Amino acid sequence: MNIHEYQAKQLLAQYGVAVPGGDAVRTPDEARAVAEKLFAAGQKMVVVKSQIHAGGRGKGTFTSGFKGGVKLAKSVEEAHEFARAMLGQVLVTQQTGPEGREVKTLLIAAAEEIKKEFYCACLLDRASSRPIMMVSTEGGMDIEEVAAKTPEKIVRETIDPAVGMMPYQARKLAAALGLKGDLINQGAKQFLGIYRTFWECDAAMVEINPLCIVVTPDGREALVCVDAKIGLDDNALFRHKNILEMRDLGEEAPLEIEASKFNLNYIKLDGSIACLVNGAGLAMATMDIIQHFGGSPANFLDVGGGASKDQVTAAFKIILSDPHVKGILVNIFGGIMDCNVIATGIVAAVKETGLKLPLVVRLEGNNVEAGKKTLSESGLKLITGDSMADAAKKVVAAVN
Ligand code: GDP
Ligand code: MG
Repeated sequence: MNIHEYQAKQLLAQYGVAVPGGDAVRTPDEARAVAEKLFAAGQKMVVVKSQIHAGGRGKGTFTSGFKGGVKLAKSVEEAHEFARAMLGQVLVTQQTGPEGREVKTLLIAAAEEIKKEFYCACLLDRASSRPIMMVSTEGGMDIEEVAAKTPEKIVRETIDPAVGMMPYQARKLAAALGLKGDLINQGAKQFLGIYRTFWECDAAMVEINPLCIVVTPDGREALVCVDAKIGLDDNALFRHKNILEMRDLGEEAPLEIEASKFNLNYIKLDGSIACLVNGAGLAMATMDIIQHFGGSPANFLDVGGGASKDQVTAAFKIILSDPHVKGILVNIFGGIMDCNVIATGIVAAVKETGLKLPLVVRLEGNNVEAGKKTLSESGLKLITGDSMADAAKKVVAAVN
């Protein structure tokens, strides 16, 4: 699950990480009120930030023609104008795709003069099976580009989860960014807090881009998180009720929300061949083999190891509500799964949905004979595949 920048900053603040003061708003009048408060407190600038689950907002453009999803305002009036220009409009960034996202919420925050931008992220390193903290002096840029062109500018610190991040590691990261004097201590404090946020919230990733040296209104230098992105591990959300409340269904694909109600693992893709598979590995292999034979998958769908008839029916309905689907491939290897349960589910679903599209079924494993019998006796028009390759070839041919 992803959350908005303003929510990520709330979590970070709980762990002592420095974030600029501000508030989330949903109307231009609310934006004005927050800006008034910030200017009254001595702020010289405020920043108006579109809250969508995608990055690249600063360089984004609204479909209305208005440029920039992140704008600095020097007065209450200006902040109000920006809020009016952004709210209810669709913002297109490098990460949203051409359809963009509607901006329903803004973050109005204190904005200081930025002296330097850094990059910082905490995530799981699959190679060492441990959390790592990554920092770079190349802040505010696309980190993938930094990794490709100047990998030496990314410094990593592996963390032993049994003891957590050690203060010396945090100081090492601060030194790697070239911080001096009191900023070393500030940096170390930020890194320890960012790591604790990552660990205690069961995050999959915490990314601060940029982490900035700013000049505060009283002329001092301070280190603050100007942007924040947090992705959470869905499997651990049950133990974070406060974070679960941050879920914004408006930012999730409707079909994926429907699938999550039935405990189905569904991700919509751009192709035309829908797949219904049990097990994530088999689902990946199925998508690959569809591509191999010249087709393109319309989705990733894992019904899990012990799917019920109702889940299979729900899965069919979800698949069929994607208008791009031209054919369906069911690929089931019954380990725990009883093939006959799947077969019964398929028959029920096809009848209920009045399926007209070509349907190719490959069943193998536990109770497969009964499953094949159920399918053949159902009188349904379906194509059977003897192997994965055979089934994939047949569905590609049927769609073409
Ligand atoms: P993103 O484009 O979605 O990554 O949004 P960011 O929050 O990273 O904002 C983009 C850029 O706007 C940052 O890299 C900064 O250069 C600038 N920016 C954002 N917030 C502030 C702020 O509070 N003060 C100043 N001076 N610049 C800001
Ligand atoms: Mg950013």
